[in-house]
Amino acid sequence: MCAWRLEKIVSFKGTIECVTGISIKSGANDLGIGGADSEVIKNPLTREPYLPGSSLKGKMRSQLELAYGKTSGDNGANPCGCGKRECPICTIFGAHSNTKVACGPTRILVRDSVFTEVFRQKFYEHILESGNALEVKAENIIDRSSGKAKNPRSMERVPAGAEFTLDIQLQIFEGDNETDMVETVKNGLALVEQSYLGNSGSRGYGQVKFHYEISEKSVAVDGKKITITNKEV
Ligand SMILES: [Zn+2]
Repeated sequence: MCAWRLEKIVSFKGTIECVTGISIKSGANDLGIGGADSEVIKNPLTREPYLPGSSLKGKMRSQLELAYGKTSGDNGANPCGCGKRECPICTIFGAHSNTKVACGPTRILVRDSVFTEVFRQKFYEHILESGNALEVKAENIIDRSSGKAKNPRSMERVPAGAEFTLDIQLQIFEGDNETDMVETVKNGLALVEQSYLGNSGSRGYGQVKFHYEISEKSVAVDGKKITITNKEV
């Protein structure tokens, strides 16, 4: 067993701009009166929509795997689990279900994204004006032979123009190729912009744009004292 020493933490902080309406479904939907068949995930205390960090992390990973040819399984649907230290996917995102790995601890941490302060204000102003600031969109599957709609359902979306926080931390261990890892995270975000976040991307949902700045903190340990210092990149 080898020791892993944390040297730096690289932060990617900024905002997620929703170019189109976005829907990250909650697991269980309570069908209240006037409620949509499929609701977006919300903070149970404030009822405010958020984007789980796991959704962004998973989407970055799957898009990077496709771009780097790192998928496994016949249809390319399974994540890379090679666990090699030179594999940027396994090193940054974790070696999936493989427990015998050389790449060490998962380096990335993607925090949940909440409304930015500016958008939160707009959101509540809109609720005061019109009672709801979320969009309920009807979706149909058209039966091609009869031309009739099958399974009509309503999908709740956070409207286009919404703004969420972006907060990603990347841990850099001794011996890591920091430049490549930072580049991989940037590539992951760029690929998600070309794809979508959340559900129903093929129907136009979930187009996002990331605006962020990168900063760095160094971690120094002197005996039992840990110093975390901000650095300009
Ligand atoms: Zn791998």
